[in-house]
Amino acid sequence: MFQMKTNNPEQTYQLGQKFAAAMKPGMTILLEGDLGAGKTLFVQGFAAQLQVKEQVTSPTFNLMNIYQGDCPIYHFDLYRLEQEEELDEIGFYEYSEAPDGIVIIEWPDKFPDCLPKEAFYIKIELGELPDQRKICVALKGETHKDLYEELETSCLY
Ligand code: ADP
Ligand code: MG
Repeated sequence: MFQMKTNNPEQTYQLGQKFAAAMKPGMTILLEGDLGAGKTLFVQGFAAQLQVKEQVTSPTFNLMNIYQGDCPIYHFDLYRLEQEEELDEIGFYEYSEAPDGIVIIEWPDKFPDCLPKEAFYIKIELGELPDQRKICVALKGETHKDLYEELETSCLY
């Protein structure tokens, strides 16, 4: 696990861009953080980096958005789901390991047993100052260890 801070919204957006520049189709981000943490901002930066032109919003009501960029981005929000069975109903498993695109799952901690085994876990928390955020990154699984270490280096130095 490594940790960094952003000091304003723009830096969180840029962090999203940085992750997008490093990631490849078939990879997954688990994006945790309370309401107002900055998850949408991160995804907006991420999508912009992959040349998504449409507007990126929280999929809270439709549960999943698909953005077309350099590759598809499957953007899930599990906030409103209550039962594991609902994941099936919304087609979660059809996309959650999509080899052609990048999957971003918000509120993953609600369903820890239903998530892809290989993923980048990112948690955004409030910092000490109003516009500061504490961002933890952890790797789930071993497959993307090299990329994870590259990201660690580029984020910390
Ligand atoms: P979420 O999707 O997690 O609910 P949003 O991205 O929609 O959160 O909103 C984050 C809010 O916090 C925005 O209003 C943004 O301007 C504000 N903010 C302040 N500082 C930061 C920061 N360092 N990183 C991200 N957002 C920040
Ligand atoms: Mg949001």
